[in-house]
Amino acid sequence: MGAAWICAIVAATSVGAPAPVSGRSAAGPSSGRAGTVEAEAEPSGARDPEGKRRRAHAEPGAPGRRRGPEGAEATDRPAAALVPTPPPERVAAAARRPKRPKRRRRRPKPRRVVPKGHPDCDGRVPIHEHVVQKGEHLGRIAGKYGVRRRDLVRLNPHLRDPDLIHPGQRVRVCPEILPRVETEIFYTVQPGDTLTGIAAQYDLSVEALLELQKEPLEDPNRIRPGERVRIVVQGPVLPAFRPFDPERVEGDRLVAGMQLPPGAHYHVKRPHLAWGTPHTVRLIQKAIDRYRRRRPGGPKIFVGDISKRGGGKLPPHLSHRAGRDVDIGYVRRGKNANNPRFTVVDDRTLDVPRTWELVKAFLETNEVRFIFMDYRVQKKLYEYARSQGVPKETLDELFQYPRGRHRAHGIIRHWRSHRDHFHVRFRK
Ligand SMILES: [Zn+2]
Repeated sequence: MGAAWICAIVAATSVGAPAPVSGRSAAGPSSGRAGTVEAEAEPSGARDPEGKRRRAHAEPGAPGRRRGPEGAEATDRPAAALVPTPPPERVAAAARRPKRPKRRRRRPKPRRVVPKGHPDCDGRVPIHEHVVQKGEHLGRIAGKYGVRRRDLVRLNPHLRDPDLIHPGQRVRVCPEILPRVETEIFYTVQPGDTLTGIAAQYDLSVEALLELQKEPLEDPNRIRPGERVRIVVQGPVLPAFRPFDPERVEGDRLVAGMQLPPGAHYHVKRPHLAWGTPHTVRLIQKAIDRYRRRRPGGPKIFVGDISKRGGGKLPPHLSHRAGRDVDIGYVRRGKNANNPRFTVVDDRTLDVPRTWELVKAFLETNEVRFIFMDYRVQKKLYEYARSQGVPKETLDELFQYPRGRHRAHGIIRHWRSHRDHFHVRFRK
């Protein structure tokens, strides 16, 4: 009954009108048990159209005129039994006064209020403190939260040697990939188990599973019954981060935007949709220039949509609203290499060395928030970069691959329909 009472109070105060008795509660029986149901049903009753509420208001035997929690006594009868009845003279006075509907102050439209994040994160998200696990390095921690290693170095001046972090140390991070509730479990290998099978059971790739082991498995190719495999199950986003969605925080307008001008080494597919922030426009030019210096020759780079003039929705894109997103075609070989239309790439048509150089040139601006790229293309670039001697720590920072396309990780992440182009979001 206590809980019901609180509910009733909340309902009455949230309505803000004196003693609304919804049709539902009037119809309900007045037993204590029904009171519980009534009280809980109240908030929806409060949303009833105006007429219904007025009818309810005119109902006899609803004398309460006081605002606030005390007024709740009139809201529902079972609760009233708990509260001292008003003095008789007041009831009489109320009866003498002509009843007219009290003007209600219109409530402002409920706006989705996103709380402010931490100033060190430019107010975008709160700070998260990651506790270093055995076997982790700073690049992988950066990848886990979709940020750059250099961001962590900057945010954690207390780390004397960023190359040498220890289990239990705390690392501050402004996460782009929101931290989740994590539960550590240990799976005991059964006869007949394979690592692939265990990984699949927990929706992990084998690589992601191996990464979770604090003590490396003796022989990942031959796991033995009785061996223990560490699994980290990811639950919902941590409560403090639930109101935030860094991928969506973009804004809906483009103020003081500029159009990407034509360039010698790139082709703008639809110039009227190539409006970006001056920063974005400069970075696109800079990245393509850098790419071109390293890889002279070859086809032009095809630049897709950025935003329309002034920004705002740009169907069919979900983003591209504030001049900070750009679509870039993969560098291709074969007959489509110079085709301004984006075409789906495969082993035969994707120019892996050139595309990797181009992606790298964008990443080296250090202003990329994320890149959306099909998982299969990620695999090609990852393997190529590896063969070129890019350290695994760097790849752990940059790529979601090989953790599976559903495991959020890294700056370069899978998003459907990015097999014919990649999508770059800049920070500013
Ligand atoms: Zn895009």
